[in-house]
Amino acid sequence: MGQFELGMAMVRAWLCEQPTQQGACGHCASCHSIDVHAHADLCVLMPEVDMLERGWPLSEKAQSEIDDKNASPAKKFGGCHA
Ligand SMILES: [Zn+2]
Repeated sequence: MGQFELGMAMVRAWLCEQPTQQGACGHCASCHSIDVHAHADLCVLMPEVDMLERGWPLSEKAQSEIDDKNASPAKKFGGCHA
């Protein structure tokens, strides 16, 4: 398992509403929102560049900054929906 996958497994278990001893349950609303790349809390855990690379949506603000200024995605954290 790569570092990212390992990190995601930990984050999933942490955000999961009904974690098991093996980690996230994979069935609750929180697990599901991570599966569909829509968990609002996850955005603060990844730099924008990583989110783009892995197909996660950026916040409208972050995305419009990139579009408007033809800027590069930032390495800062918080490509957040909220
Ligand atoms: Zn769960």
